[in-house]
Amino acid sequence: MYLENQQQADWRVRATCRDEDPDGLFVRGAEQRKAKLVCIACPVRTECLAEALDNRIEFGVWGGMTERERRALLRRRPDVDNWRELLDDARRRHSFDDEEVRVG
Ligand code: SF4
Repeated sequence: MYLENQQQADWRVRATCRDEDPDGLFVRGAEQRKAKLVCIACPVRTECLAEALDNRIEFGVWGGMTERERRALLRRRPDVDNWRELLDDARRRHSFDDEEVRVG
């Protein structure tokens, strides 16, 4: 449990955008498409997106989603009260499925 909490707390250290200009993620319009490219291979994309969704962060690109995309997602899923848990579960299930494919 401690390790899990520690990993959750330290996700920002592994962010791909850590050394980028932070203003680059808080742009508008077509610039957002470019900003989202930074997130594609980010190892903490899930954690970042969950942070934005759970805390209703209104501005900027987080986890590869613009504020508009996050608002739409929140409207579609008003039943979710813990995005971190939901996204972690989905990631675990996806990893498990991949493992089954490799083994099977
Ligand atoms: S998902 Fe994008 S905004 Fe979030 S930490 Fe990674 S690079 Fe930065």
